[in-house]
Amino acid sequence: MKKLFTFLLLVNSIYAKVIVTTTIYPLYSVVQEVGKDKVKLNNLIPFGTEPHAFEPTPQNIVTLLGSDLFIISSSVMEPWANKIVKANHLEKITIDMSKHVAIKKHTSFKEGKAFDPHYWLSFDNYIRMVSEVEDLLIEKDAKNSDIYRKNAKNYIKKIKAIQNEYATLRSCKNKKVIVNHDAFGYLGDDYNIKQYHIAGMSPDEQPSAKQIAQLINITKKENIHTVFFEEFANDKLSKTIAKEAGVNSEELSPIGNISKEAYREHVKFLDIMRKNLVKLKRAMDCQ
Ligand SMILES: [Zn+2]
Repeated sequence: MKKLFTFLLLVNSIYAKVIVTTTIYPLYSVVQEVGKDKVKLNNLIPFGTEPHAFEPTPQNIVTLLGSDLFIISSSVMEPWANKIVKANHLEKITIDMSKHVAIKKHTSFKEGKAFDPHYWLSFDNYIRMVSEVEDLLIEKDAKNSDIYRKNAKNYIKKIKAIQNEYATLRSCKNKKVIVNHDAFGYLGDDYNIKQYHIAGMSPDEQPSAKQIAQLINITKKENIHTVFFEEFANDKLSKTIAKEAGVNSEELSPIGNISKEAYREHVKFLDIMRKNLVKLKRAMDCQ
């Protein structure tokens, strides 16, 4: 009996998966690609919801107490996380990914929001996220380190291929876009795109009537011919501005989350990046 028990323990330790819980979709995506079947991955912010507006539930705490790793994107994006980590003594399993990427300050940030949290939209940062997750998984599960290294290497190769495609944005005729909320600063920096935004750093920070009138003027004056809206926020203002200025409106995803349907259909982070590129090229007159 004792022998059987020891054997079962051994089997259990061989097949045990690393249990990882992530907050926003880009983190989920990276862990999924690097961990594959060696990881049991929990998604905290439900698919199909606006990530800035998330509030944790008691069930989320239960999930976190059973996790080996809890990866958050930043205290700007997930202002609720710190309190939960402290109250449940999760410091040892918690990683704040913003400490491992290059973050940028923003001129329009509100008090208490020290930096722009949308860093995953810079490919260099997304690659840093992959490397960090690779290190974390190797640390937790050294016996599978070769697998994690291989998965990370393959994924980085795919990321770099799309990064090369994005380089064409540098030669577009129109370098100005209007987006729904202030999420594309990193992308703008990488490809020299000027981003005008309708809402603030979070989609619920709405502009005044005067600011809306200014955006309509900018759209006309700067020859902008697409106003972008996003899937999980109200598209009324984007569509109003587009209509008033006589231009198109189209969806552009900041990839803070994906829809339930996209998740079911195995749509990946890089698929959405590629879709965004097609739309950006159209809006920016590049060929
Ligand atoms: Zn955002």
